[in-house]
Amino acid sequence: MRKVLVSACLMGRRVRYDGRAKPVDDAAVERWRREGRLVVHCPEISGGLPVPRPPAEIEPGADAADVLAGRARILTPEGVDVTEHFVFGARSALATARAHGVAVALLKQSSPSCGSREVYDGTFSGGKVPGEGVTAHLLREHGIAVLDEDQVAEAARLLAEVESTDGHATPPGQGL
Ligand code: SF4
Repeated sequence: MRKVLVSACLMGRRVRYDGRAKPVDDAAVERWRREGRLVVHCPEISGGLPVPRPPAEIEPGADAADVLAGRARILTPEGVDVTEHFVFGARSALATARAHGVAVALLKQSSPSCGSREVYDGTFSGGKVPGEGVTAHLLREHGIAVLDEDQVAEAARLLAEVESTDGHATPPGQGL
């Protein structure tokens, strides 16, 4: 049975920077929970950040690949460099995913860690730009599909596809 890595805040854990959760209410996610498929993870907590914590954004004009390559930083509004925590958290998420044979990740949109289609633009004005968080980028680099809370049906389709080919091909996230 293949597993699904899911953002801890989507499962109701109060781990967001503001001490809140963003629980997702979806029958497929509930079914995965009952089946024992969910691997619940918060990259920022595993990266050593506290709750609550200041918000943080990728520097304007940079992307997740720049951060992971050491060419850009993730900063708080006061300019505190928290890049190290985010990179450590991304690596921890990847290690966790690989240890559990995760096929698909369902991550909270817009986060500098978990965003998979857009992220905040680095100005702390609420603006967003197309892009990824560092965890989402690293997981994708290693063959794990990353979807968000509005794409549960697509995640379920991909999960079924991976399981139908298990035994016939190298599973995503393994053998790399
Ligand atoms: Fe949720 Fe991801 Fe932010 Fe943790 S790092 S609070 S899991 S969006």
